[in-house]
Amino acid sequence: MGLLALGTPLPWDEAKRYAEHVRTHGITQFLHIWDRLKDRCGDELMWGDEIEYMVIKFDNEGRNAKLSLRQTEILEKLKTITNDIASDRGETDSVPTFHPEYGRFMLESTPGAPYTGALADLLSVESDMRYRRNLARKYLKPNEIPFTLTSFPRLGVPGVFTEPYCDPRDAVSSHSLFLPEEITNPHARFPTLTANIRRRRGSKVAINLPLFIDENTPRPFIDPTIPWDRNLYAEDHEARDGAALPDHIYMDAMGFGMGCCCLQITFQACNVTEARRLYDALVPVAPLMLALTAASPLWRGYIADVDCRWDVVSASVDDRTDEERGLKPLNENRFRIPKSRYASVSLYISEHWFNRPEYNDIYAPHDEAIYERLRGHDIDSLLSKHISHLFIRDPLVVFSETIDQDDTNSNDHFENIQSTNWQTLRFKPPPVNSPIGWRVEFRSMEVQITDFENAAFALFVVLLSRAILNFNLNFYIPISKVDENMARAQRRDALHTQRFFFRKDVFPPGSTFTTPTPTASAASSGTSSPVEGANGVPKEKKLRNCYPDAPKPENGFRRAPVEEEYEEMTLEEIMNGKGDAFPGLLGLVVAYLDTLDFDETTRLRIEGYLDLIRRRTNGSLKTAATWIREFVRSHPEYKFDSVVSQEINYDLVVALDEIERGIRKAEDFLPAGYRSKS
Ligand code: ADP
Ligand code: MG
Ligand code: MG
Ligand code: MG
Repeated sequence: MGLLALGTPLPWDEAKRYAEHVRTHGITQFLHIWDRLKDRCGDELMWGDEIEYMVIKFDNEGRNAKLSLRQTEILEKLKTITNDIASDRGETDSVPTFHPEYGRFMLESTPGAPYTGALADLLSVESDMRYRRNLARKYLKPNEIPFTLTSFPRLGVPGVFTEPYCDPRDAVSSHSLFLPEEITNPHARFPTLTANIRRRRGSKVAINLPLFIDENTPRPFIDPTIPWDRNLYAEDHEARDGAALPDHIYMDAMGFGMGCCCLQITFQACNVTEARRLYDALVPVAPLMLALTAASPLWRGYIADVDCRWDVVSASVDDRTDEERGLKPLNENRFRIPKSRYASVSLYISEHWFNRPEYNDIYAPHDEAIYERLRGHDIDSLLSKHISHLFIRDPLVVFSETIDQDDTNSNDHFENIQSTNWQTLRFKPPPVNSPIGWRVEFRSMEVQITDFENAAFALFVVLLSRAILNFNLNFYIPISKVDENMARAQRRDALHTQRFFFRKDVFPPGSTFTTPTPTASAASSGTSSPVEGANGVPKEKKLRNCYPDAPKPENGFRRAPVEEEYEEMTLEEIMNGKGDAFPGLLGLVVAYLDTLDFDETTRLRIEGYLDLIRRRTNGSLKTAATWIREFVRSHPEYKFDSVVSQEINYDLVVALDEIERGIRKAEDFLPAGYRSKS
């Protein structure tokens, strides 16, 4: 979430009158940033993670695991603690930061300072994550635990799932049948966001996840836990009038999506060109990492037939009107909009010669006047399209105190639109008056149960980003195929049941890339000279930025039709390689590691992280989603009716906590050597 400005948020009827104002000034603010920083170059790699937690309270006597709604007190406490630590140490850099999130049961943490490209920093990621988790854990109440669980299995069930209990009848912002008002962070921004999405859309959001049909699940499944006949809020009839689908898990509020936790990674690029190049290269990687990190098979007390949060979050903030969704002819609205504000990327943005116009092959409406304004300011067509595409959206929360801003010194209106376009990747311009450069944020991953796994996935993504730049890799496929991958990635056990579109030849023409042989790479620090890599090139001492581009071949270079550039592969092939021509993403990362000057211990530990990913990919370790699904289905109290009861949920959460702390073995889920070092 962006900054939490203080102020008075306007209800939708008033806020919408300022939509054009916010867009116009938002673009002015972007142009000021552009003018000042478009030529900024030479920024070093800095990067950081964001980890979201849900605070769960155990009621051991009642055998219930509930969401603790003490976010405000917890954050105040953590702020005091971190301030004390900082003043003890006389510096703030190494002291983590805790941030509020949408759910009143959620926390987010980030490292005190971003990691640098120093090789030692790679090994500090897991300990930094653990330090943050332990800090939060230490200052919570007895029986309260910060969990990195993507979705809470019993959010929105009848009965008690929060501590303290709150009644959904008081849900004045969402009008939900299931979630009380108190589920939402009380800061004015969040209830307003919730209410304004509903008002703008003209109905409640409607989320329908396919139910996992088990042996005893009644068919058709008509959910008995939906209060079908309630007549309290104007929208209560929607469920019975068709918003709630048979054989689905129906959810009707922003809290179901924005109450999920994820793992995000932000990198600083050398300059704006490299940021755009990296953004594009990671677009096709986003669905793959979603499938690999799948961790959310349980929703509102049921087992779903999907493993991931993405579509839930997407539908939970879908503020498009009937006209925009194509259900009615356009009359009051300006655009037909194919996707929710929370969705996969719709446009590649790099001007690199790899990027063929054919890859941007889906309809992504843009605001023509804004596009022309950006073009008139000498911004190229691709970036102008990107920004004017984001700016088709209305601002959802407008504070009366900050309507008029100094556009040379604020990016608030720009960020209002930018930060409520929640896409798989985010291209982040430098903030005003800050030393930070052009950045890219990778946003598709589900948060993992342990920090060992979170560190492994964070490291994999940052190493892959360097491999992309170092070897000049080309991952482009048509964006319609990335969208198809996004849909496939969320299916049950997608990792092993689905095939994904991927590019066949990822190397630039004339590349001399040679696949490292497993023995050479595993023992690389022991064999040849420790400081010399392939062809006698000295090994690098850090992860860096600012790589030279692959030169565009001159005459005689012919491109194959786009359809011949990609094929469907299993995730195992994409990760581990296929034939001689494609070493797989893990192979590319290993080859990149071979260019770095590691000592043996560091290299071995990094191999340990990659090995987790390798074993998840080949199925010798399960994803969290599969492990959780199997735990529920093998629980003695499970009736094979798709229902996750209070007791099953309690036992599941206890088990996950014990796994995280290393006191319960789960060798089908984590490597045998996993130990919590708390
Ligand atoms: P948001 O919620 O807007 O995505 P956060 O501030 O929560 O952003 O997290 C940003 C992440 O970026 C943190 O992990 C932080 O350490 C990292 N970061 C901070 N400064 C830089 C920088 N200059 N370059 C790259 N990453 C940075
Ligand atoms: Mg967050
Ligand atoms: Mg954040
Ligand atoms: Mg973020």
